[in-house]
Amino acid sequence: MGKQEWGFEENHEVHAAAAFTIRNILESIMGNIDEKRSGKPMIHLGHGDPSVYPCFRTSISAEDALVESVRSAKFNCYPDGVGIDPARSAIAEHLSKDLPYKIETDDVFLTAGGNHAIEILLTVLARPHANILFPRPNYPIYEAQARFSPLEVRHFDLLPEKGWEVDLDGVKTLADRKTVAIVVINPGNPCGNVYTFDHLKKIAETARELGILVISDEVYAHLVFGDKPFIPMGVFGDIAPVLTLGSLSKRWIVPGWRFGWIAITDPTSILQETGVAGSLKSCLTISADPATVIQGAIPSVIKNTPKSFFLNINKLLKEAADLFFEKIKEVPLVTCPHKSEGSMFSMVMLNIPAFKDVADDTDFCMKLAKEECMILFPGSAVGLKNWVRVSFATEPKVLEEAIERMKTFCLKHAKY
Ligand SMILES: *Cc1c(COP(=O)(O)O)cnc(C)c1O
Repeated sequence: MGKQEWGFEENHEVHAAAAFTIRNILESIMGNIDEKRSGKPMIHLGHGDPSVYPCFRTSISAEDALVESVRSAKFNCYPDGVGIDPARSAIAEHLSKDLPYKIETDDVFLTAGGNHAIEILLTVLARPHANILFPRPNYPIYEAQARFSPLEVRHFDLLPEKGWEVDLDGVKTLADRKTVAIVVINPGNPCGNVYTFDHLKKIAETARELGILVISDEVYAHLVFGDKPFIPMGVFGDIAPVLTLGSLSKRWIVPGWRFGWIAITDPTSILQETGVAGSLKSCLTISADPATVIQGAIPSVIKNTPKSFFLNINKLLKEAADLFFEKIKEVPLVTCPHKSEGSMFSMVMLNIPAFKDVADDTDFCMKLAKEECMILFPGSAVGLKNWVRVSFATEPKVLEEAIERMKTFCLKHAKY
């Protein structure tokens, strides 16, 4: 029987959506890596997963919490759709510490990581003819997930010359009566920016003016190491309703544990009144859950991870960000306009006309992989053509070697 006689076929829409994902793009760059031929070990600065480096290992107390959860035999069951209460209440308490009001257990919904939270939010907010505002550059999963949604995506700019602040005038021109939400990522991926109290307040005021809710992606919450403190968007929840998205993946460096959350940070209960909170609950009843054993470990993970663990991680990230920002100045044909103050990333601009044989950012990443056995993430995949995203969350020796390789590459391919 020929394939056209079957009643099913390849789904090209899924391919088109997957093309946006970090995994897919990295896979194609990885195809150019050949450690044997190049005689160098691969350096991977393409994604934010430093769990492979011994210095970034998660805290022993978190590992113990998970072991105890398994050994207790209390968490072999199905969880509730929204998550088990002890874990929800631990997250609620954890988030409330940084807010001027208290988040209740019922305001927290557990998800299988931040990416799952994004999927849930876009599903819940989807309505025909509605639109949503995404930053440019953006974390690519938003774009990939939106391909499956009837929501129309509109992009506002983050401004490099203003430390990657939101172009609020742009937001106002983009939005209309059919706009449902604006997405803000703070601390930022891919830019490594951290927003001030004043800027976050202005974002909330803009959202109020437009009658839209704020989705605040805070998976890098507290991973800050510049002059600015981390301020949760929920602080301005009385100005406009905020859905806060969080995860264990980055701060505890356990992306493989697949645990995240959505928290309603909305002291004036607009999300309750409009029914958005109820829709979230229904959506989670249908959707997959984070593993119950992970949920069982959460109260202890949150309570028992020592401050010293977080201080050490932020110290390592700060040293890496400083080192990167200083050393990248020695690399010709590239500019890093803004030193990272949070998350694990920096955006670097390529002076493409000054290269003799590099066509664009993707070509740069492909050739760099082939010749120098190292991986960076092309800016076009986060919405900024002819930039690259660098993850500096590695050991200092690896980072120094990476910058040396970039230098060799740029010198070799410079026009003059
Ligand atoms: C990593 C990341 C996520 C996804 O978090 P997971 O818990 O790994 O699924 C969401 N948003 C941003 C901005 C991220 O960098």
